[in-house]
Amino acid sequence: MISLLVAQGKSGAAAGSPLSGLFLSEKIKDPAMHAEMLVLQFSREVVDQPIIYRLVKDFGLEFNLLRAAINPRQEGLIVMELRGHPKDFRRGLKYLRDSGVKVKRVAGEVRRNEDRCYQCGTCTAVCPTGALYLERPSMAVAFEAAKCSACELCCPVCPARAMEVRLNRSAV
Ligand code: SF4
Ligand code: SF4
Repeated sequence: MISLLVAQGKSGAAAGSPLSGLFLSEKIKDPAMHAEMLVLQFSREVVDQPIIYRLVKDFGLEFNLLRAAINPRQEGLIVMELRGHPKDFRRGLKYLRDSGVKVKRVAGEVRRNEDRCYQCGTCTAVCPTGALYLERPSMAVAFEAAKCSACELCCPVCPARAMEVRLNRSAV
């Protein structure tokens, strides 16, 4: 996983995107912090704004980026683990929503229904963590549950509906 922090005057992300103003850094862990896996959807109207920069700089949050598909003037999607002190975390989520970002909190577990999966491989193209991958040389589609972030990106692309979400009721 990759951590992103606010850069002072330099940037490792493309200008004019939600990731503007950020650069790659070592992951920082603090057990007192609250952490959640989030899926953020950016509409065309906000995709060019440095929203994550503000989220990090103004609210003191840090995050591990799992996937970022950002195209100028098109919709964008970011999957990440967001981490911070609980009060800052809540303020940061409010800021995201007030900015027009659709925030989905991952609160469950994704499993593969082995009876349904017919090994087409479509899901491996969208999985941001490498939990779904092609085994070589057999080219079988493997699923490693321990690597799964439960982002659910594989669920809608699976033609067999083999990737199933199980909600963690204590987290919703
Ligand atoms: S997309 Fe669905 S059917 Fe295809 S390999 Fe993945 S889980 Fe199996
Ligand atoms: S939910 Fe699906 S796409 Fe997301 S990490 Fe797990 S296996 Fe990969």
